[in-house]
Amino acid sequence: MLDAAPTEAEREAIDAVVGPERTNGDRVSRSDRTRRHLLLPALRAAQRRVGWVTPGALGYASRRLEVPPADAYGVATFYALIALEERPAEVLHVCTDLSCALAGATVPEGAQPSPCLGLCERAPAALRTVAGPKPREEQIPAAGPPLPQRSGLKLLRRIAEGVDPESPPEFRALERARELGPERVIELVKASPLLGRGGAAFPTGLKWEAVARQTAKPHYLVCNADESEPGTFKDRVLMEQDPFALIESMAIAAYATGCERAFVYVRAEYPLAHERLQNAIDKSDVDVEIELRIGAGAYVCGEETALFQSIEGYRGEPRNKPPFPVEVGLFGKPTVVNNVETLVNVPHIVLGVDAPDTRLFCVSGNVARPGLYELELGTPLSDLLELAGAEPAKAVLLGGAAGSFLRPDQLDLPLSFEAARAAGVTLGSGVVIVFGMEADLVSAVLRIAEFFRDESCGQCVPCRVGTVRQEEALHRLASGKANGNELAVLADLSQVMRDASICGLGQTAASAVDSAIRNLGVLA
Ligand code: SF4
Repeated sequence: MLDAAPTEAEREAIDAVVGPERTNGDRVSRSDRTRRHLLLPALRAAQRRVGWVTPGALGYASRRLEVPPADAYGVATFYALIALEERPAEVLHVCTDLSCALAGATVPEGAQPSPCLGLCERAPAALRTVAGPKPREEQIPAAGPPLPQRSGLKLLRRIAEGVDPESPPEFRALERARELGPERVIELVKASPLLGRGGAAFPTGLKWEAVARQTAKPHYLVCNADESEPGTFKDRVLMEQDPFALIESMAIAAYATGCERAFVYVRAEYPLAHERLQNAIDKSDVDVEIELRIGAGAYVCGEETALFQSIEGYRGEPRNKPPFPVEVGLFGKPTVVNNVETLVNVPHIVLGVDAPDTRLFCVSGNVARPGLYELELGTPLSDLLELAGAEPAKAVLLGGAAGSFLRPDQLDLPLSFEAARAAGVTLGSGVVIVFGMEADLVSAVLRIAEFFRDESCGQCVPCRVGTVRQEEALHRLASGKANGNELAVLADLSQVMRDASICGLGQTAASAVDSAIRNLGVLA
């Protein structure tokens, strides 16, 4: 089937990514054999041209990049946003996830339901993709509310002041970093309280130092901008509104850790961020080559090793760790992986800005002022809820689908890594979803279980089977068809997935469900 010929339009779209075909018949040149990493961009280009990846396009990409056809098919089927069946050129993806469900989202006939699109502050939200000679993607609504907070800002200050996202500012922090030298920059980051903001909270300076010390070359820098945790949209706001801050931060990180090449991997659902970042890359005079890579709808690619797999042109299946990315990362080389929010802290550290350590919080759900907030670490959650005009809450989901539900009497929790750990919860990616008194928590719990079952890459048994069994047990409880063992089964599944899954997806797939049952008594 993959012997089918591509159309001229598909050939052009793929050639624009991989380069024109040489005139040596079907022989693949030596250089093409090392270009498997272009497989996902090539498939994406073909789909944007004709609306789906036809057998002809898949076969042509596979042949051009010398990826075995079955292997290329395996990659294409991994990503939810790559369509292998014919469909209209225009597709409406309607978010049915937690925040949009709270806002009453419904899926019109002909539209596709979608997991969280990262537009939670403007819920209900959708994304329209239009294929053709001039493909485009439109976020709906096109714009969100302005930043709800105007003071006490560090990372969001320039955005609040109306920085032009399309014109390069002076890179003062990068200049300062060059004056200081790489070792001193790493010392400053190590001496700062900066912990990774992607969820794992690892000290950034230690990670940088570990990569800088590696003798294996080259070193790579990867900015993880694949934020797909339901309820998270902070990195999108940063990339859309202040993309040059990220480029400057990446340039400093690359300089300090000896990276010659950097990738910023952004989820496919963020078209404005793609455009603004590419513009910022093109207009920035930095020493590191930065390349924008766009995902294709896979939550698990937010896991750092799955993200490497995706950039390299494979299915986004997480790798076993160790070895850790600081030693064996992208293309098998030492790699610094940092989240967007983590990186944009760096210029402030290098410039010695005298400001407290802050954290971004994505607030949505039953609140009067949804949006992105920046608070000093340790601020009580109740203060944040007051700022956002939260309705009296039946529950608050902290940390997203991989986080935990809190009861109304737990909302004084200080928002710090230590306090969260002590309370047995996580700040995760800074998600705060408020469920008002009328909210349907059973539906929310079922949706979370469905999400993990759907997003599990299926590579390891505890997660592949556990997420299915978890969802089944919850549905039996919700439909009154329980056999009496469900709560014990769910507790066992939770333990097994946490202890035996390869990656964070499986390890946290029961966290929110568990907390809803134990903490809120939902379905208990
Ligand atoms: S835990 Fe789940 S997502 Fe992670 S590797 Fe295993 S099956 Fe894949």
